[in-house]
Parts: sequence; structure tokens; C-alpha cells
Amino acid sequence: VNRFGTAATAVEEPPIRPDVKIDYNQILINGQFLDSASGKTFPTYDPRTEEVIAHVAEGDAEDIDRAVAAARQAFDNGPWRKMTAYERSRIINQCADIVEKHNDEIAMLETLDNGKTYEQASKIEIPTVVRILRYYAGWPDKIHGLVVPADGPHHVQIMHEAIGVAGQIIPWNFPLLMLAWKVGPALACGNTIVMKTAEQTPLSALYVAKLFHDAGLPPGVLNIVSGFGPTAGAALASHTDVDKVAFTGSTATGKIILELAAKSNLKQVTLELGGKSPFIVCEDADVDEAVELAHFALFFNQGQCCCAGSRTFVHESIYDEFVEKSKARALRRVVGDPFKTGVEQGPQIDDLQFKKILGCIKSGVESGATLETGGGRFGNKGFYVQPTIFSNVKDEMFIAKEEIFGPVQSILKFKDINEVIQRSNASRYGLAAGVFTQNIDTANTLSRSLRVGTVWVNCFDIFDAAIPFGGFKMSGQGREKGIDSLKNYLQVKSVVTSLKNPAWL
Ligand code: NAD
Repeated sequence: VNRFGTAATAVEEPPIRPDVKIDYNQILINGQFLDSASGKTFPTYDPRTEEVIAHVAEGDAEDIDRAVAAARQAFDNGPWRKMTAYERSRIINQCADIVEKHNDEIAMLETLDNGKTYEQASKIEIPTVVRILRYYAGWPDKIHGLVVPADGPHHVQIMHEAIGVAGQIIPWNFPLLMLAWKVGPALACGNTIVMKTAEQTPLSALYVAKLFHDAGLPPGVLNIVSGFGPTAGAALASHTDVDKVAFTGSTATGKIILELAAKSNLKQVTLELGGKSPFIVCEDADVDEAVELAHFALFFNQGQCCCAGSRTFVHESIYDEFVEKSKARALRRVVGDPFKTGVEQGPQIDDLQFKKILGCIKSGVESGATLETGGGRFGNKGFYVQPTIFSNVKDEMFIAKEEIFGPVQSILKFKDINEVIQRSNASRYGLAAGVFTQNIDTANTLSRSLRVGTVWVNCFDIFDAAIPFGGFKMSGQGREKGIDSLKNYLQVKSVVTSLKNPAWL
């Protein structure tokens, strides 16, 4: 047992073997599991042990072609678009029910492939997937157009129609939640889908897509291609028979997606990208509560959240106390096998991110920030990183400007509200912000002034299905969840009919 408490032994103990089989490791096209056209496979790893869990079919451009053809056929000639809204709603509800029924196996797959805690996957994420599917299952019969008055003898209908084939590219940090955020609205609006999952986490989507088919989703409506970004992902973003692409991931890749969409067929694009979200602790805050919330805002999901509160701004009057208590909280953080009850932090996703995070920590030390705790590898196997706290962080340091995507909290000091607004907004990102204060005037001033897509006041990471989420500036384009996401998957058509009947004229 080391200073991290009992959790340290969890890494040294043999990894817990989850009771789940890898039944699906091929790509899913038109309701059929198939090998990739090239016959190639790629390994997916257990981040706890760095060992291979399974080899998965590696889709590339040819498989994307096959999947898009299936989605096109299902959109143009299949039952999905033409069935009643009520029937579509019923099928989406059945998809939610079947996911709920298989909650625990799905959560095990997610933990095994991603390293997130089983408690988080089974009690928060998979239930939220169900909630999101049910929310969108409620929409099909509420999506409708208008009849508008027009000058002259015309009957004018504004119709809202499905866009067609949606290409969706998702990351590894919340594999199934990102799937739900994207397939929910796309299905509700009657589109068909080709989804490219992240190469680090291909397993849960294949399992769940199979369940969707068992629940009555017609073949070709949801096709899943596992594979890599520059091959399968780029082929999807540049496919001329894809009508829309939705992407979540890094800002750098978002730019590539936009360019590929523009160069191919000007398909519509929505992007959910990176962030460097401020978490602002005002002078009137209860320090203990603020420390706990700021800790959660950064360390949740091993720090691998696009909206992580990764710039903790603390008022100078409580700064020293806040740093001391944050350090104590990080030292108490339970790191270990994510299948073990009570563990708060599992391993990072892969070797690349693990090394990137350690590189960021090194840069923090070199640039003169004070390393309060952590800073290195945790244990000697698996991609575990010690919960790390930096104080005396300055705005111009790399760790204060760039996404670290790991369990590294940077604590900055501020003097007054105008200064913290200006410094918070001095970022190319604008995804989210946290505000911690008991003063309603301060809360309102900050929420109006921060140029971000979501402001959480005295809370953080509240993700209800009905709350839109997305970024200002280089954090993205468009919104996911809520009513706003439906716009991403609908076309507006105006039908103007001449009124020639003398009875009217
Ligand atoms: P990424 O942007 O490279 O990958 C996200 C998805 O895009 C994956 O499915 C990937 O295969 C695909 N992709 C990659 N290159 C592509 C291309 N040229 N064309 C089409 N698709 C492509 O992100 P990453 O490499 O997994 O992580 C790198 C950084 O991205 C992280 O350190 C983090 O800062 C950020 N990130 C952000 C989010 C988020 O939710 N906003 C999620 C994951 C990662």
C-alpha cells in the first residue's frame, strides 16, 4: 500500500476478468457482420494490462463504399424513411429497452476496451445512453413543418425532411454515449447512418448495433465500420453519396473533416471538438465544496473529457487554502483496476495518450509551474497516471493553453471578475465553463460574459438529453442533444402550389 491507499495494490493484483465474451468483431453492413474487404484486422487493447483483447476487422475506403451503398439503399428504398413516425418511435424505444436490459454486459465491454470505471459505465453512461434514446424516440411524431400564408394564390408548405445518409465519426472517450448523441437524432429524423467508431474502442458499438437489429431496426439503417481515421474516417468524410457528416474529436481532425466535406460534395458538417474550459472559483465560495467540484470537473473519466474544467481559476483570497485542499483530494483519489468497486480512476486510453500526458506534465515543470503532487506513472503496468496538481500556473504556459486530456489539474490565481472573464475568454476554444459562487449577480455576469456553449453554475458535467451541447469558436459547429440537434439531421423543403381552383379565387 503506498500513499495512494489501497488502490495501489489493485494495479499490482491480477486484473479482474469481466464476465463478458467478445462476440462481435467484424464490421456491420446492411445488418450483416462481415470481414473487411482487405481481410485486414487491427488489435484493440486492454488499457489496464496493455494486452490485446481482440482483433477487429479493419475497414477502409472500400468498406465505407459498401456501407454507404447499404445506407443509401435503405434510405431510398427501405422502409425506414417511409414508415409512420409512430412506428419509428416505437423501434427507437425498443432499442433503448434492449440496451437497458443488457446494461451490465455493455458496461463491461466499455470498461474493458476504454479503462473507465465499471461503476461509471454501468451506473451513469449506459443508463444515459438509454435516456438519450428514449428522449429521441419521443421526437419522430413531433417533427413537422408548417403551412404559411403567401402573397398571391399559392398554398405554401414548409416541410422538414430527413437529410439522407449521415456519416458519423466518434472518439474513444465516451464510445457509446457519443454513439447515442449521434444516432438518436439521426434516427428520429428518418436518416440512415454509417458510423466510423474510434480505433481504440470498437467493441461496444458493434455489440449495441447488433442489439438494435434484434430490437427491430431495419438492415442498412445503422452500419458500423471499425477502422482508422485517415483511411476509413477520411473516406466517409469525403464520400460523395454521404449527405451530412457529424464528428467528435480533436480540433485538428475537425479541420480535416471540414476540408474533406468541402472538397467532395459540400456535405453539411457538425463538429464537436476540443476545449480548455475554465472553472472559476469566486471569493465567496465554500472552499471544501469548490475543491470537490473542481476535482470532479477535471478528473472525471481520467481527465479525458472535451469539456474538462482544465483551467481552475481561483480567487487570490482563497488560493492557498484551495491548492492545499486540492492536493489532499488528489492524494486521496483512488486509482486502480476500473472493475474494482470504489476505484475512482482507471488507466488512460492508450500508450499514445499516456505518453502525451507525461509530456505535458514535463512541460508544466519546465515552464515553472509548481508540481504539488503526482507527475508520473502509477504502478508499473497499464496506462495509469498519478493524479497530478500544478499550482502557480500562468496563462501563457502550454498546460494552460492546450488540451492535456489527462488527470492533470492546473490551478491559476485571479484578482477580480473582469480579469477572470478576459483571461477565460482568451482561448481559441469555447466549449464550456464552470462557475462557483453564492452571488447570483456574479453568476449571471459570468454566464453572460463567457464565450462558451455551456456554463455550469455550482455544478459541472450535467448532461441531460434535452440540454444542447457544443462549442463557440474552435470548439465546434452546431449543437448535439436537445431540440437543436434535430436541425443537424433535417432538410427544409418549401412546396409552393398554385391555387387555380375558381372556388378559391
Ligand atoms: P482524433 O480527432 O484523432 O480522433 C477522433 C475520431 O476521428 C476517431 O474516430 C478517429 O479515427 C477519427 N479520425 C482521425 N483522423 C481522421 C481523419 N484524417 N479523417 C477522418 N477521421 C479521422 O482524436 P484522438 O487522436 O483520438 O485524440 C487526440 C486528441 O483529441 C486528444 O488528446 C484530445 O485532445 C482530443 N479529443 C477530443 C475529444 C472530444 O470529445 N472533443 C475526444 C477524443 C479526443
